[in-house]
Amino acid sequence: MELKRTAARFAKAKLSEDIITRDKICEFSRKGWLECAKFGLQSMVVPEEGGGGGLGPVDTVSVLEGIGLGCMDNGLLCALSAHIWGCVLPILRFGTEQQKKRYLSPLMDGALIGANAMTELEAGSDVYSLKTAAKKKKGHFLISGRKVFITNAPVADIFVVYVRTGNRKGMAGISCFLIEKGAKGFFVGKNIDKMGLRTSTMSEIVLDGCRVSDENLIGRYNSGAVVFNESISWERMGVAALQLGAIERLCNICAGYAKTREVFGRPIAGFKIVSDRIRDMELCLKKGRALVHRAAKARQCGRPAFIESAKAKLYVSESYLRCSRQALQIHGAYGYMTEYGLEREMRDAMASTIHSGTSEVLQEMIRKTRKVVR
Ligand SMILES: Cc1cc2nc3c(=O)[nH]c(=O)nc-3n(C[C@H](O)[C@H](O)[C@H](O)COP(=O)(O)OP(=O)(O)OC[C@H]3O[C@@H](n4cnc5c(N)ncnc54)[C@H](O)[C@@H]3O)c2cc1C
Repeated sequence: MELKRTAARFAKAKLSEDIITRDKICEFSRKGWLECAKFGLQSMVVPEEGGGGGLGPVDTVSVLEGIGLGCMDNGLLCALSAHIWGCVLPILRFGTEQQKKRYLSPLMDGALIGANAMTELEAGSDVYSLKTAAKKKKGHFLISGRKVFITNAPVADIFVVYVRTGNRKGMAGISCFLIEKGAKGFFVGKNIDKMGLRTSTMSEIVLDGCRVSDENLIGRYNSGAVVFNESISWERMGVAALQLGAIERLCNICAGYAKTREVFGRPIAGFKIVSDRIRDMELCLKKGRALVHRAAKARQCGRPAFIESAKAKLYVSESYLRCSRQALQIHGAYGYMTEYGLEREMRDAMASTIHSGTSEVLQEMIRKTRKVVR
């Protein structure tokens, strides 16, 4: 509880500066990024002996819940998630000693920004149909292909890129590579304008015979799917924890507003439909918290928690979207105005049901495991 409180206090004080303006002009906050590094967010899952915070899964989700509660810059949090789960974690878990030595420290202290590139034009939900391919040469690979919707790409220094290296279809024959910005044959597109999470940057990347050394392989050759599954499972749990914080923030805002906004001579909290909406939001928070903590506890016990994380992400992201709409509605026309921040929250929430596995894909995944268990 103390971890969550400390994180929320920090986030509220340091991370939401000029959010309305920055959302309008799609500006990523370097200042916020460095504040997060100083606080220890980028390093929280790295063991203490490696210079990190050494937090386990249960403490990690508590910190993230606090950050989501205090921070209104959801774009910054999206950038952090892509960095921590898509870049720091793969290097930490699967990287060579040399990779860890070279990259972890600057990735933790805010000097470097990481991105991860899996999605392609025709490989979104069906990730393992990706076509970006590497030709194996002596001591190096030549990679060609195109990746889309890559969070952080315009500002990133290091990219974790998933590439087909084998002839087999599907999960087998995928490898994971670390590629530095500026590598020959590696091109980053312009920032893409998007509906929400506008303070995080996004673009496509193009690899045109990009030469990458054998030493840039993360994990084993043809075993990139193992790296991806571990990374995405943590990411789902992590983003769900952040969104839990956001739901709690919305609950607090709405409860306060409903008590003070008077219509027909009484506070709107006195109208059953309004109080039902707030109760619904609080219920979402309670159920979502149970799911996120169940996933974290499973991880803490050493289980991969793949399905638990998928369930938490599915429920919390859908709830976040639902609650952001409820919050806007409770505020009437004020909610619809940019100044109040609730229309931005709703735009941000919409993305959460798409990235890190769409709700439909997660539903399918959970349904299939149920079948197997039966
Ligand atoms: C804000 C944001 C940040 C992102 N950041 C990154 C990033 O950093 N790196 C990266 O690699 N990618 C990133 N992505 C891409 C993201 O992972 C993909 O958008 C996502 O996997 C879905 O792929 P798609 O958009 O191609 O949709 P599609 O796969 O084309 O899906 C279209 C629709 O069909 C539905 N659908 C697909 N399969 C099924 C099925 N089996 N059953 C039922 N319905 C189905 C989907 O749910 C969706 O509604 C990001 C996306 C967003 C929005």
